[in-house]
Amino acid sequence: MLTKEVYERCAKRALEYLDKAGIALTEEEKKNIQVAEYDLDCVDTIGLELVVYVNTEKCCAKELILFPGQTCPEHRHPEINGEEGKEETFRCRYGKVYLYVEGEGKGEISAKISEGMEHCFTCMNEIVLYPGEQYTIYPNTLHWFQAGEEGAIVSEFSTKSRDEFDIYTDKRINPAGKRNV
Ligand code: ZN
Repeated sequence: MLTKEVYERCAKRALEYLDKAGIALTEEEKKNIQVAEYDLDCVDTIGLELVVYVNTEKCCAKELILFPGQTCPEHRHPEINGEEGKEETFRCRYGKVYLYVEGEGKGEISAKISEGMEHCFTCMNEIVLYPGEQYTIYPNTLHWFQAGEEGAIVSEFSTKSRDEFDIYTDKRINPAGKRNV
């Protein structure tokens, strides 16, 4: 559960990372940092922090902040009422991010999956993004990502974000109950 204590600790730490990366925010944006913890009570492992710059009918832009080893759980953005699902481009701004998408992997991956959570992460096709590198994920493609040892900041550019329709591999996650990417 996202308690006040968890929220405040994560939001404060996210601001430190944004500051380290030299990303300027307004006071309003600082107050509106979102923390996704998915009601799994392990936010330092499965979770992330977000700053939403814009989310209109046509486009969405966010900053995603991940602490060292923090992971956004595997999910996809399906078609809704005949409208294509969300398309997203992730651009690394700080640190390093291990991104996994559907497709043939090399067998070994660099990210660490917590014991007992293996069935919640099925994509093993690894893309490593360093600052200035980006990758586009097309609609309805399964994906998940994890920050490297220094944490990561990722800018996300996408079509409209409708978190409540996202489909997670980990069926404990209720998409209507959180904010996601
Ligand atoms: Zn996504």
